Amino acid sequence: MATRTVLITGSTSGIGLGIARAFARAKYNIIFNGLEQNGSELAAGIANEFQVGHLYSPANALDSNQLRTMIGEGLQKFKHIDVLINNCGIQHVAPIENFPDDKWEDILHINLTSAFILTKALLKPMRENKFGRIINVASAHGLFASEYKSAYVAAKHGILGLTKVTALEGAPFNINCNAICPGYVRTPLVDAQIRDQAKSHDISESEVIPRVFLHKQAVKKFIPIELIGKLALLLADEHSGTLTGTAIPIDGGWSAQ
Ligand code: NAD
Repeated sequence: MATRTVLITGSTSGIGLGIARAFARAKYNIIFNGLEQNGSELAAGIANEFQVGHLYSPANALDSNQLRTMIGEGLQKFKHIDVLINNCGIQHVAPIENFPDDKWEDILHINLTSAFILTKALLKPMRENKFGRIINVASAHGLFASEYKSAYVAAKHGILGLTKVTALEGAPFNINCNAICPGYVRTPLVDAQIRDQAKSHDISESEVIPRVFLHKQAVKKFIPIELIGKLALLLADEHSGTLTGTAIPIDGGWSAQ
């Protein structure tokens, strides 16, 4: 089998970076993306460690043209992009009445619209290649709501809808599409919420992890990033064509209640 190539948005931090490591270990070429200052070095370091091809793009998910340019650069370098992982995302925590309009717009664009733009750009080349795997990193908040996360919950519910439609349209062409719905994972995105959650819930910062983050999970532990990487590899597998249109929780039992 020829070496497969994966494009992972937001892969220079947190979950995306962990997924990139898992795919590099499995010998995929990686197209990295993310806004971290040291993104280029991080990407080169992983590619070097696992001896795989790579490209780093700082395309901003708020700018659809930059996303399309990233696809063009990836196709030029690797000829085909076999797996697309829409992972980039941001969060903002505030009651609806105080929720800034511009934060709403940004969250919808970065967490949802960017996935639509990249899926739209890649469906034709994947169809021509008779193979495609699209994985959307949604959230337990794609299935459930929490107060003070209106934009995030709306975007994550939305991406589950996009996942199902992509699965139906991709089905005749060996293109599957699935969503991963993690509970809480200890990343900079979660760390950055601690102060705002404390303020919105009127509790101390030390109470946020047990009372807000892990409260809804039966297993009172953060979800390991490595587990998400393993699930993403399974969804990207040659034999996973009939595994499609799903929203798979890895949420410490949150969705069992
Ligand atoms: P993170 O902050 O560690 O990483 C987010 C990544 O997205 C970074 O690489 C960042 O540069 C990139 N990004 C942000 N804005 C961007 C933009 N405008 N253009 C391009 N890239 C941009 O966060 P994370 O926790 O690893 O989150 C990754 C995904 O997982 C998100 O979609 C998030 O909603 C989802 N998720 C996270 C958790 C959690 O508990 N951490 C739980 C469920 C789902």
